[in-house]
Amino acid sequence: MTNASVPAQPPVNWLSLIVIGVTNLCAVTFVPWYGLTYGFSTAAWIWFGVFMIGCGMAITAGYHRLWSHRTYNAHWSVRLGLMLFGTMALQNSILVWASNHRTHHGHVDDNDRDPYSAKKGFWFSHVGWMLRDYASAQTDLSNVKDIKADPIAMFQHRFYLPLVLTTNFGFTFLAGWASGDIWGVFWLAGMLRLVMSHHVTWFINSLAHAWGNQPYTDKNSARDNPILAFITYGEGYHNFHHLYASDYRNGVRWWQWDPTKWLIASLSFVGLTHNLRRMPDVTIQQARLAMQFQKLERQLAHPKSHARLDLEKLRAQMAHEADAFRATLAEWGKVRDAWYADARQRLTVQWEKANFRAHSREVLYRLRMQHRRLQMLNAQLA
Ligand SMILES: [Zn+2]
Ligand SMILES: [Zn+2]
Repeated sequence: MTNASVPAQPPVNWLSLIVIGVTNLCAVTFVPWYGLTYGFSTAAWIWFGVFMIGCGMAITAGYHRLWSHRTYNAHWSVRLGLMLFGTMALQNSILVWASNHRTHHGHVDDNDRDPYSAKKGFWFSHVGWMLRDYASAQTDLSNVKDIKADPIAMFQHRFYLPLVLTTNFGFTFLAGWASGDIWGVFWLAGMLRLVMSHHVTWFINSLAHAWGNQPYTDKNSARDNPILAFITYGEGYHNFHHLYASDYRNGVRWWQWDPTKWLIASLSFVGLTHNLRRMPDVTIQQARLAMQFQKLERQLAHPKSHARLDLEKLRAQMAHEADAFRATLAEWGKVRDAWYADARQRLTVQWEKANFRAHSREVLYRLRMQHRRLQMLNAQLA
């Protein structure tokens, strides 16, 4: 007897289920068994690290920031390397991955259209979305026309399966043969690496939409989380990323752990990447302050009962800060409009450029100071 109120589940995607099921099972059975029985050589551990980082960063710097979001341009040799290690990570072709990811950004948290909507729970956004043929995960390649013009991405798409087998078995065998430990390298740098790099990427869709804070926007479930950033090559700063996806950085502050942005920036010094896109600092600060105001206003509207606070004074302080914020933005708007109004002519005049930069530094400084003052206000209310 079927329950009419429970909608029928879409059919199981057997290929995904078997590949994900078997590799995960091997990673928790054969890998520890082999290690306990024969031990792993140092070479096997080194190759594990090399392939783990290679595959991980091919996904973050390549699949994600280069192809999906076009945050920079790269020389063909870089694209080739990113394509090969990205193939080894076994996460479908660049074309399909980028198409799904662009849909995720365009319809984030929409259970009917976001392929890995976090609103459907941790399991679904982590791996469940791949195990059945959900309508929300149907790939529509109409949003990746630009990638179709990239011969490296198209070559990978056409020969995906042979490339997956060559990279996973070929690279792993070569590394094992060169280090004289074929089986040790196979289990560690082949199997365990594949499973772990899968989960690292999947954490961005699951944990990075559930665990952390929202300094830049609360319009979607994406979170900033330094712990996640540490294991995901910088992608844990997902709240910033969802607001400014065209920025090549995810950890936007210079000190934030984002090896992917450091890789892209380092390659630009030797001319292998160029046209690195960044959001203007003032725009970023503005978004961060707007969120701070929103949070403080909520806290002031519902102060904690045990806190003995001079609410009137705090409200007056807030109103004063809000006025200052509006005044800074209005002033900045005028300076910027004047600059853009006659940009071509001004570009030739060096002192005008310096003047504009000085203005923008001043505005940035004011916004940063205000961020600190609001942090102090927040500390009083917390
Ligand atoms: Zn996301
Ligand atoms: Zn993205």
